[in-house]
Amino acid sequence: MYDYVEGRVSGKILVVDDVATNRIVMKVKLSSACYEVLQACGGREALQLVRREMPDLVLLDVMMPDLDGFAVCSALKNDPSTAHIPIIMVTALADTSARLKGLQAGADDFLNKPLDEITLLARVRNLLRQGSSALDRRMRDQTRFALGRKGLAADDAAALAPGHIALLCASPKSALRWTQALNARLPDEVISVNRETALEGGKEATDLFVLECSETAPTDALHLMAELRARPRTRNAGFVMLLPERHQRLTALALDQGAHDVLILPVATEEIALRLRSQIGRKRQADQLRTDVADGLQLAVIDPLTGLFNRRYALNHLENISIRAQATGRDFAVLMLDLDHFKKVNDHYGHKAGDQVLVTLTNRLRVNLRAMDLIARIGGEEFLITLPESNAQQAQDIANRLRTVIQDSAVILEDGTPVDMTVSLGLSMGEPLSGTTDIALLLERADRALYAAKAQGRNQVSVSNSLSAA
Ligand code: GH3
Ligand code: MG
Ligand code: MG
Repeated sequence: MYDYVEGRVSGKILVVDDVATNRIVMKVKLSSACYEVLQACGGREALQLVRREMPDLVLLDVMMPDLDGFAVCSALKNDPSTAHIPIIMVTALADTSARLKGLQAGADDFLNKPLDEITLLARVRNLLRQGSSALDRRMRDQTRFALGRKGLAADDAAALAPGHIALLCASPKSALRWTQALNARLPDEVISVNRETALEGGKEATDLFVLECSETAPTDALHLMAELRARPRTRNAGFVMLLPERHQRLTALALDQGAHDVLILPVATEEIALRLRSQIGRKRQADQLRTDVADGLQLAVIDPLTGLFNRRYALNHLENISIRAQATGRDFAVLMLDLDHFKKVNDHYGHKAGDQVLVTLTNRLRVNLRAMDLIARIGGEEFLITLPESNAQQAQDIANRLRTVIQDSAVILEDGTPVDMTVSLGLSMGEPLSGTTDIALLLERADRALYAAKAQGRNQVSVSNSLSAA
């Protein structure tokens, strides 16, 4: 399922529909775009599958006999462990109240059947892009927490402080109509601006640009978005496109050019209001991430020599993996890796060469892990690797693979000297079904196993015998 060399798959999508033909049609469309597709034939099965498989996106039918799409959507969005997964609701219902109900339940998007393939794939790409940053955000949130800072505000759109929204409308008439309607419904300041003012950037930073495409020259708005996205004062804003119905085939283009959302006109004011609010929320979180980076918050969790996460981050991450495993029932592995006779490198070639060896080997290890695995530097030449959703056999295979990629080629120092290196590894398994999830215990077992690997001659993997270990 995962390619250990490439390290990642393009995305795992769960299709939920009670009608088999609908699922198959969707599966064909998505598989041809290289997504991995899972299927559920009802609401209850969908909830189970999401918790077990943690897909990257869910395509959710509304009308299903056991548990309808609205209920599934609320359940997933109210559960902190699944709230970050984007949901697209799919329905034959064209009426506004269903759309509103879906958005209020937390759906990220709403598409009508029959689905236009190009639009579907563009929406999926767009949400997957935003989804991976949502996961990233959740991880950093946990990091903030680990460092004793408050987490970022949750996705509670109603609680967000008012923002600045700039409308660029196709005509003075629609500008007047939209500013009035949106100001009446949103806590944000909604003003209509012209092209020049927008490009100047204004005094107050704009959180969100809403661009209405005109009937006659719809691509003008796309060009304007491109210009705004190229300018420092406006590049970090959110962008929402309003497209007249007869130009709806431009949806895919707009999303691929960076629009955060696209709405097809005519659309209910209430729906626009909900969608703009959720975009303001996204924008705020993106701002917070940038501030964190600028604050040097990252420095507190990153090892400067190798760029890997440090011990503090790794332990917090491991705790999260254990909690997740208890929810999914899937095994996970803890690996301790230590370079063999590393002191000799320093002694023979100097400390600087030692540093170079560390960096080179680190990179080699990193590219041989999956995207969801974590490698952290927890000591001078000691690393902690966590492998979620892996059984004992898979974990041993990975450990051996890591050992081999170090052994197989020498590190070439700056002056061209080859240095042969090996590593020893200790492995312990987290097994939620047998109640073995305690982090301290797993670390201790992995550590002991590592010690055994060293004692037995190095350049090997030793597996903790959990029965004999304390
Ligand atoms: P073993 O196979 O038993 O692990 O032997 P070893 O020599 O690798 O282990 P030992 O713990 O005796 O020595 C580790 C050495 O790693 C000692 C220390 O100077 C070196 N070291 C730790 N951190 C760094 C670093 O950041 N850069 C360099 N160049 N050396 C480091
Ligand atoms: Mg060592
Ligand atoms: Mg050591």
